Amino acid sequence: MHIPDAIKALRAHLATIADLRATTAILRWDQETYMPPRGTAGRAEQLGTLTRLLHELFVSSQTQALLAAAEGVLDQLDPDSDEAALVRMTRRDYDRQSRLPAEFVAARARAASLSTQIWREARRRNDFPGFLPALAEMVDFARREADYIGFEDHPYDALLDRYEPGMTTQDIDGLFSRLREVTVPFVRVIVERGRPVEDGFLHAEYDVAQQRAFGVAVADVFGYDFSRGRLDESVHPFETSFHPDDVRITTRYQRNYLPSAMFAIFHETGHALYEQGIPPALARTCIGHGASMGLHESQSRMWENLVGRSRPFWQHYYPILQRSFAPLRQVELDTFYRAVNRVQPSLIRVEADEVTYNLHIMLRYELEKQLLKGALAVEDLPEAWNERMHAYLGVTPATDADGVMQDTHWSGGSIGYFPTYTLGNVVSVQLFEAARRVHPSLLEDIGRGQFATLLGWLRQHVHRHGRKFLPKEIIKRATGTDLTPEPYLQYLRSKFSDVYGVTLEEPARRSS
Ligand code: ZN
Repeated sequence: MHIPDAIKALRAHLATIADLRATTAILRWDQETYMPPRGTAGRAEQLGTLTRLLHELFVSSQTQALLAAAEGVLDQLDPDSDEAALVRMTRRDYDRQSRLPAEFVAARARAASLSTQIWREARRRNDFPGFLPALAEMVDFARREADYIGFEDHPYDALLDRYEPGMTTQDIDGLFSRLREVTVPFVRVIVERGRPVEDGFLHAEYDVAQQRAFGVAVADVFGYDFSRGRLDESVHPFETSFHPDDVRITTRYQRNYLPSAMFAIFHETGHALYEQGIPPALARTCIGHGASMGLHESQSRMWENLVGRSRPFWQHYYPILQRSFAPLRQVELDTFYRAVNRVQPSLIRVEADEVTYNLHIMLRYELEKQLLKGALAVEDLPEAWNERMHAYLGVTPATDADGVMQDTHWSGGSIGYFPTYTLGNVVSVQLFEAARRVHPSLLEDIGRGQFATLLGWLRQHVHRHGRKFLPKEIIKRATGTDLTPEPYLQYLRSKFSDVYGVTLEEPARRSS
């Protein structure tokens, strides 16, 4: 196909921006993995400088002119082509970014960096009042961002769109109310009537080198290409991509708790497979990575939960795991399988099981909406948090460190991010079921330790597109339907009825 010069010029300009962006990601990766502790202040300056340069270059009159010229030749392009998608997404990003004044972006970046440090220290001392002024400032930045960006119904729409383009607060409200009406009774039935789960053996002594070796072996057979990636350690596990040929993951090891590092590796591998699956032709553009946080999380949760916590997976891998770890040699497969799928209402989101996880997210989402609207004062957050924890999960944190201060997101200004975790859970099952319709032997393949069928389907229907389309369009193209929570709810019902020896039933649907 002939590529018009205006497109080539825009692409060359965007490549510079993509390189700068990748460089900031390398600095962040280094900060979380190998940077010496006292490097923090210098690194904040380096990141601040690069972030400012990036923003200035992207919202410059040069970008504006190149984009306008490229839009002038858009009608010569196939709407599904990489070039047309590049122009569409650049316009989307440009319109959003150019509404934010450079001083605002710089001030927020500085405040977020400081606030994160204050949060870390305040959390350690369980000192919410000490965190309050910084948190109030970040909430204020979020409100101002929503005002700059603009919104029709709810200020939350303006923030959500940054993480989940095309998704609205109204969409999330509908999805969450459906999830809540079904899963709250599930949790009650499991807690009251479920067959007890024994999991003490998971807290035995597990050699860290063996944990790493097992994790690497599984990531490798999942399809993670270590010649284009690597696994390091960090306090909070994450995945980061600088280019489709350099996609890295981290985990953290606990000598006395086997699942922590193992499932984190499966999870981050899912993110990494997505980024390694982006076509080389999209590298160094704004469409050369995953389509949204929610779609990304659908990949990580799929490999972590639908594959890594499935019975077929462990039928194949449990004997191998047992050879690596003495504490498991007397533990039956069924006991192990139930232990890694234990459901227990708990205080901490990142440790939550598949059934209760979304309740943690709903609570945060509702509080964020109220904060933005001014319906909840920042100083009243701990009380509001604890009330909701009790209502949804029946537990109340003894400290704010284990309550309202447990996550890093708010201190870093990422208000509007949380719903993407639940979207990821929901979409993971919708995609998995679509793959199973085409490949009915998918679970049997997993039970033989073969993952190429699943990865191949994901490459073809999700990864290949990068960020060419909005997430909802990728979901529709891949599954034939719009985003729906029903396959996910069906999955929870069937899996956990089995794990707990109970019959989980949906409450009768209200007609509305
Ligand atoms: Zn993730």
